[in-house]
Amino acid sequence: MLDDATMIFRPGTAVWVEHPDLAWAEAEVVSSPATPSSPSSVNIVLSTGVKQTLWLVGLANSPCEQAVVDGRKVLPRDTEADLGGVDDMTKLVYLHEPGVLCNLARRYTLNEIYTYTGRILIAINPFAKLPHMYDMHMMEQYRGVQFGELSPHVFAVADASYRAMVSENRSQSILVSGESGAGKTETTKLIMRYLTFVGGRATGDIRSVEQQVLESNPLLEAFGNARTVRNDNSSRFGKFVEIQFDKSGRISGAAVRTYLLERSRVVQISEAERNYHCFYQLCASGQDADKYKLAHPRNFNYLNQSHVYELEGVSEAEQYLKTRRAMDIVGICFSDQEAIFRTVAATLHLGNIDFSPGKEFDSSVIKDEKCKFHLQMAADLLMVDASLLLSTLCYRTIKTPEGNIIKAVDSSAAIIGRDTLAKTVYARLFDWLVDNINKSIGQDMESRSQIGVLDIYGFECFKYNSFEQLCINFANEKLQQHFNKHVFKMEQEEYKMEEINWSYIEFVDNQDILDLIEKNLRAHPRLEKPKLSKTDFSLSHFAGKVTYQTDLFLEKNRDYVIAEHQNLLSSSKCSFLSGLFASHQDDPSKSSYKFSSVASRFKQQLQALMETLSSTEPHYIRCIKPNSLNHPQKFENGSVLQQLRSGGVLEAIRISLAGYPTRRTYSEFINRFGLLVPEHMDERFEERSLTQRILKQQNLANFQLGRTKVFLRAGQIAVLDSRRGEI
Ligand code: ATP
Ligand code: MG
Repeated sequence: MLDDATMIFRPGTAVWVEHPDLAWAEAEVVSSPATPSSPSSVNIVLSTGVKQTLWLVGLANSPCEQAVVDGRKVLPRDTEADLGGVDDMTKLVYLHEPGVLCNLARRYTLNEIYTYTGRILIAINPFAKLPHMYDMHMMEQYRGVQFGELSPHVFAVADASYRAMVSENRSQSILVSGESGAGKTETTKLIMRYLTFVGGRATGDIRSVEQQVLESNPLLEAFGNARTVRNDNSSRFGKFVEIQFDKSGRISGAAVRTYLLERSRVVQISEAERNYHCFYQLCASGQDADKYKLAHPRNFNYLNQSHVYELEGVSEAEQYLKTRRAMDIVGICFSDQEAIFRTVAATLHLGNIDFSPGKEFDSSVIKDEKCKFHLQMAADLLMVDASLLLSTLCYRTIKTPEGNIIKAVDSSAAIIGRDTLAKTVYARLFDWLVDNINKSIGQDMESRSQIGVLDIYGFECFKYNSFEQLCINFANEKLQQHFNKHVFKMEQEEYKMEEINWSYIEFVDNQDILDLIEKNLRAHPRLEKPKLSKTDFSLSHFAGKVTYQTDLFLEKNRDYVIAEHQNLLSSSKCSFLSGLFASHQDDPSKSSYKFSSVASRFKQQLQALMETLSSTEPHYIRCIKPNSLNHPQKFENGSVLQQLRSGGVLEAIRISLAGYPTRRTYSEFINRFGLLVPEHMDERFEERSLTQRILKQQNLANFQLGRTKVFLRAGQIAVLDSRRGEI
């Protein structure tokens, strides 16, 4: 970080030291350099509050207060920093990891959850309703105000993008990222609410385009969100909502694109998690539940694999009514609504059809009377023939050159077939909802400018990483490349504006890992294959190394409907359901069905997304989850740091460090460092030349004098501070 850290660490200097527990801890230099034999080591004493942990975490051998630490892991600390923090990281005296972290922590304590890093908004989940934070008055306040003039806020980003769109007639995009539970979906909804506020027609019509846009959220959440161990309302799909505006800046249409719905959840859930919300809503719906012979979720195999049926503070019955209302507003007619919930109920009954081994070898029969009841219910609700449903599950057709052979399958294969059928139906249902929302809201083909809002899963690294994680992390690499290029461009623009030389700033592209994944290269420095496993491989992503287990890759990558399932469902007397499974061969617009692998479909969708994004002006919001307990007012340094790293915030800072990270207007600079040249302070000075004189006198080189600001290299401000401290 600093070329020669020990140079500036005089005794008494306030510093940060790397700390295994706190990430970074406040300390003070006692003596430096410590010994001639280890010139880079610095003798430090930790500040009050962290002293007692010093030996516990291995920084010292005994419960003393002092320790000798590696000089490279010591960074200068600004003792004059405001306890309230600064609202933009670029205002920090020291733009380094501990500076960034401490600033966020200080602000978070004061419920200041938003902070800028230049144009990037960092949003830390408060896990509490903050009073008046998002009310009408707040929206009014941010409307039309110059970005940066008011405190950082998600409305400020939404407003800046809206105004840029109106004034420059250029499409914008707001990219919201972060790990599960960090607040992406809430942030996205706030953006959409703000955009409908500034761009709505305020007609009061509940079926207006803006209301439909807003109501698409609870609808998609009912079918695409579920409780996970990380988040009670976790989105199990990615989403890009494009809001279209007419010439006068009014909302005139919208389009929703979704990515990679987690299908396996329909049939399999882990302990403490739940299936999609809609199942529990329907079970709690009273009359409708009775109509479909539903009961408490504990009675259904697809719901009782975990014993969590309720969510804190949520009434499923009320949520059911909200989902129905959202369907009304979005324009789903009553008969389609009935068909949708009939299909949801059928899925639950389907999951209760169990099989036992049949009399003949490798065959299966329905297990008992109860299962027969569920078979009949599933068939009735799907409006298909019960015996056709049963034979679809218990037999398979094998094509041979001599003709088709019908073969019985064993009970475990029948169960797998049943689950595949449930997943297929649910996935098509979800796609239908998205298509219908789009049709109903309508596209404004004449709209010249749009604002797209992306709510997509952040980088994932679990104990077990499978195909989904590879897709998600690939998407994140793509977005990271887009982000880096943008941040780099923004830096260049500022330098250009200030008319300074910027030509030597280095930009690290992650194209190599994209090539590795897209082209499946076999040998690559970022690819490792553990010796003990044939199926595992590790990739060094920009955000860290991930080991993937490939055993289920092929199965999860399959994206076609089994012919028997297609036949069964297209035979349904329910036109809604048979419509979901009508052959789309003649209709090229149904492009989502032409792929046979999830990966190729996802890659194509991602390509289209990147093309859209590259034609827009991007705005970035990085959501941060401050702790894993989802508690308010708890800030875990290590985890926040990891998220800043994987969200590219530290990379943005690195790019900025590669150039001139410290910028001060001439008057700010002279206010702070004028006392280094007291002999000149009495004279009538010209700010720019006095700044130059100060820097030259301190033997600093490589700085740049811009039109209005001085640009300093990393570490130069620490040297100046140190000299200032000597006075
Ligand atoms: P996932 O990737 O799992 O979908 P996410 O990043 O979309 O996660 P959200 O569902 O938006 O996370 O947020 C999780 C929870 O955090 C919310 O249900 C809400 O309780 C809380 N939360 C998020 N943002 C805010 C906010 N700005 N104010 C108050 N609470 C919030
Ligand atoms: Mg979400």
